Amino acid sequence: MGNSTEKIVQESLDALMDDDSFLPELKDQAREKAFSSLNSILSTPNHVNKSFLRVTLENGKVERIPSFRIQHNNILGPYKGGIRFHESVSEEEVGNFAVLMTLKNALHEVPFGGGKGGVIINPREYSVKELNLICRKYVQYFSDIIGPDKDIPAPDVGTGDREMDWMMGEYKSIHPGRPYRGSFTGKSVLNGGSLGRREATGKGVYYSFRYMLHDFAKDQEKWLSQRDNKFAKTVLDHVDQTVSIAVQGFGNVGSIAALEAYQCQYLNNKIVAVSDRNVTLYNSDGLDISNLIEYTENHEGDLPTDEEQLKDADIKATIRDRDDLLTLDVDVLMLAALEAQIHQENMKDVKARIIVEGANAPITSGADKYLSENGVVIIPDILANAGGVIVSYLEWLQGRETQFISEDEVFSRLFDQMKETFDTIYPQFYGDPFPLRQNCYIHAVMKISTIIYRQGKLY
Ligand code: GLU
Repeated sequence: MGNSTEKIVQESLDALMDDDSFLPELKDQAREKAFSSLNSILSTPNHVNKSFLRVTLENGKVERIPSFRIQHNNILGPYKGGIRFHESVSEEEVGNFAVLMTLKNALHEVPFGGGKGGVIINPREYSVKELNLICRKYVQYFSDIIGPDKDIPAPDVGTGDREMDWMMGEYKSIHPGRPYRGSFTGKSVLNGGSLGRREATGKGVYYSFRYMLHDFAKDQEKWLSQRDNKFAKTVLDHVDQTVSIAVQGFGNVGSIAALEAYQCQYLNNKIVAVSDRNVTLYNSDGLDISNLIEYTENHEGDLPTDEEQLKDADIKATIRDRDDLLTLDVDVLMLAALEAQIHQENMKDVKARIIVEGANAPITSGADKYLSENGVVIIPDILANAGGVIVSYLEWLQGRETQFISEDEVFSRLFDQMKETFDTIYPQFYGDPFPLRQNCYIHAVMKISTIIYRQGKLY
């Protein structure tokens, strides 16, 4: 597994080792032994499954496509996590994302473990028929390890409800007569998906920000006196102000987070920039996000890239280079594209004081350290972007009971569940000098470790 996993696990366990309230019955040698077992359990995936999908393309050529399903840990429930279709996928990356899923689910009390899938392709280079074949082959190759009570994949970058529908269909053909609805989540509503699943991640991302700046800040007098804490100060500097926001990524997560920010009645937001794989659009007076969403819906997801297209979209903006967005003079950055977007080379140019991680691991660990030292508040991926997997859980439950709930009910359960986690994590602003990320990791590792201990695995 990658370095970062070992570091996350080691640092969290170090903090817990010194915490007398954590498994107080374990003392001296027994404690050391238990911690070393926990370290080896958590920093190693349970299973690394890989395969070459042999796919016959429409031109008759056979391509061997590397693909993975890494199952990190299932102590809290079946493995759970998306399948990514992208040319940058690697075994190490999939492994790290699988760990993040374990931690994300533990943090938000979702009764699933963590896993992740990946296929090394650029989906834009394949026809619909070829993509269908790739999806079906993926399920054929991994059919024995997937299932409603074993490992439940979902969409991620490069996949969506279409792919999940195909995959569930293939699973059903391979395992006739067995329950199949819970084998994949993120399916289309017609095919047993949950209302609200598509919007869930983006809505949750925005909610993590709104809750911090509005709901939590307003209610907590104690917090408001914490200007000594550099992170609390950063947040308090933005309470009741107009906040300028830039959103990187205008797909399923970024566009919904931007829309929520645009329509929010609780905060005075101005979305001054959005970007996608082609461009950054900037307007210091704010962009009309509804018009932009309407435009992208009719243009294969892409933002306008020239003056004529801006006119078509009825948008006033200047067009800039794609990566300009990251270093704009804004209060808030919402990162909803890919991993490692803020790194050693650009971290010193980042001006935002609050960063929300809609994507998984969009900030490298070196940049994370630098920004945190400078008092930048980062709402980390496992805290901010769990809306997707929380509603995946609701989808899985609905599939089991074949009883479906309304969209309002889905969102109210989503927000209730996230609020509970925020109420555990955000009070650290009362004086704890650690970044939120560290706190989230410690919480998640504590939960998983306690269950591992209770299940008798540390003797
Ligand atoms: N791919 C999403 C994530 O990284 C969703 C996973 C799921 O719903 O299982 O959280």
